Formats: sequence, structure tokens, C-alpha cells
Amino acid sequence: MGRLLSPDEKASSIFEIDYDALYAAGKRVLLFDLDNTLGKGRPDRLAPAARELLLRLRKDGFRIGVITNRRRPAELPVFRDLSEHALLYHRACKPLKRGFLSLLEKLDASVDQAVMIGDRRLTDVFGANRVGIYTILLREGA
Ligand SMILES: [Mg+2]
Repeated sequence: MGRLLSPDEKASSIFEIDYDALYAAGKRVLLFDLDNTLGKGRPDRLAPAARELLLRLRKDGFRIGVITNRRRPAELPVFRDLSEHALLYHRACKPLKRGFLSLLEKLDASVDQAVMIGDRRLTDVFGANRVGIYTILLREGA
């Protein structure tokens, strides 16, 4: 149980992650949490800096997924913004495995190729670790 709550890495934000090292280690799919990860709090829109980052990561050869427990309708502006860059899975009920597995299948990735990045140990880290995905924990609630 303790091991499943432990991330492989910690970072202060999505902008402080060494994505080149992840790519060199064979990672090709990045799964991001939404709230307090791709934006502060519960973002209504995708901020320009986050959009720039996703564009760069796609250019660098990553495929992107966003997995969120949000229950609000997928037509919210932030989901529209994200859908240009990422496959979305909302109402994921993390730490259940199904959202992670669904995104891996849709993004045509093996567990070994994937990274989960999120701010919550009990949902993002625990859920992804249960599937065997490499995990990066951001500062909780940051
Ligand atoms: Mg979050």
C-alpha cells in the first residue's frame, strides 16, 4: 500500500518536469490531471503557458491525455481548449483503473510508455501506480 502511494518523481509544477529525460527513457504518452495540474484551482480555460507547453510536447513526439474526476459537461471551454491537444477522459473516478486503461488504449500506448502527472496522491498517484504507470506528483493543492 505504501509503495502505491509513492510517486516515482516529484515536481513543483508541469513547467519544472524534465520531459526530455522522460522521452529518453522511452516515455511517449503523458497523462495529465486537470485541476491544480494543468491550471490553478479549477481552470475554466487553458492558460496560454499551459497551451504552449502542450504544443511543445506534441512537437517533441509525446501523445497527450487528460484524465479528470470532474463531472461537469465536456463542452466547457477548458475541455474545448484541451481537445485540440489531448484525448480527454472525464468522470474518471480516479483512483479506479478504467480511465487510465482507456486512455492508454486510445493513445495506443503500453503501460511502460506512459507517465501520469497530477497533484493528488490518493487519486493521481495511487490510481496510476495500480496500473503500473510511472508517476509524477506535483505539489499538492499548488
Ligand atoms: Mg488535481
